[in-house]
Amino acid sequence: MKEFLSQTANLNRAIVSDDFLKTLNIIGKRISLTIHKYGTGTQCFDWIIPKKWSVRGAYIETLSGKRILDWKNNPLHIVIGSLPVKRKKIARADLLKKIYVSNEYPSHIPYQFKYYELDWGFCMSKDDAAKLPEEEYWIEIDSEYTEGNLLVGEHVIEGESEKSIVLLSHIDHPGQVNDGLAGAAVLLALAEELKGYKPTYTIRMQFLSETIGSIAHLHNHQKIIPQILGAIFLEMPGTPAYPMVLQHSKQKNSRLDLIAAAVLRDSGEKVEYAECFKHVVNDDGFYNSPGIDVPCISLSRSKKLSPENWYHFPYYHTSGDSIENFDIDAAQRYLKYLKEILEIANADRRITKKYQGIPNLSRHGLWIDWRLYPKASQAIDSILFSLDDGVTIFDVAELTGVPFEEVNSFVKKLEEKDLVSLSIVV
Ligand SMILES: [Zn+2]
Repeated sequence: MKEFLSQTANLNRAIVSDDFLKTLNIIGKRISLTIHKYGTGTQCFDWIIPKKWSVRGAYIETLSGKRILDWKNNPLHIVIGSLPVKRKKIARADLLKKIYVSNEYPSHIPYQFKYYELDWGFCMSKDDAAKLPEEEYWIEIDSEYTEGNLLVGEHVIEGESEKSIVLLSHIDHPGQVNDGLAGAAVLLALAEELKGYKPTYTIRMQFLSETIGSIAHLHNHQKIIPQILGAIFLEMPGTPAYPMVLQHSKQKNSRLDLIAAAVLRDSGEKVEYAECFKHVVNDDGFYNSPGIDVPCISLSRSKKLSPENWYHFPYYHTSGDSIENFDIDAAQRYLKYLKEILEIANADRRITKKYQGIPNLSRHGLWIDWRLYPKASQAIDSILFSLDDGVTIFDVAELTGVPFEEVNSFVKKLEEKDLVSLSIVV
């Protein structure tokens, strides 16, 4: 994860940009990746794909040529989407009106973006802005808007079923790590761990521009929308010492909602739950929106201040959202939960009994001596007594409190003895 983050963190990964493609190419060197392109000006649902934004350089310098700010040191140093400004002299008072700072984190550069407002500006730490030494400065922003393509990188793991599970991460947000890019790092690590995995449901891992990437992709793949079983939006996996947060889908009880809640509950971590549309509202918001109605949960690490007020993480939307302030162990655990959620969703099966009441376990060689193995025997009893018609292996695990893997292995034995048949859940 760290290698990918250090290769990409400081790229100018604006939503339509050359560095966005560069980031996808770095991912594409490690896993198979299809790059979908949606051209500038194309309408997708109610949205229009913006132009490509390129920057060759930007600076503030003293009249004697000393650089006070150089974009090459940090892509956050100009407002993302800044219009070009030809080299010109500017008075300090006027310049200060075009400099954005963070009051909350005065020693960090804030992340500002204006894609749709067509303006320009510089960003620097409040501490540095307060120290601008001279009355006049040279400034230049060498940027350009041209026709381009919004890109969506997709890694697909084909499943048995046409139904799919979509995993969403965003790689825009130049110069930042935990917001967006780290979700992509988790997804990339997951794709590598799942090499050779044959899931039940096709897994579509997507690396995109926040919100508009999903809008463009869904607009161009409307036929697959009804086939999407559910989606997971990944973000902020590496906030140090913060709880895991499950933001539910609009349905609240979709299979992914239920499985994710169970995995997190059993993880031993502190877990918070958020209502749909109340916490991170990005791609998940579009998936859950009226008329799309694909249940999309989100997983993140953040803090609940009050039922509807969330604090994302320290240094949010500033240059402090860096690799140094990113907890790799927290992200590794996040990856583990995500993998478990997918494994359970894919291993789950609907159980149809071929007997009435309860089976005679001894006759089938499945009896366990309760005097020698009381716990295992009790688990079997509780499984058998909860096998109502139509339940799934996961449902039984939830009903009985017996871990999914144990229920799964016992139910597979029942299947071997032709006592039950198993089918794909949806
Ligand atoms: Zn953000």
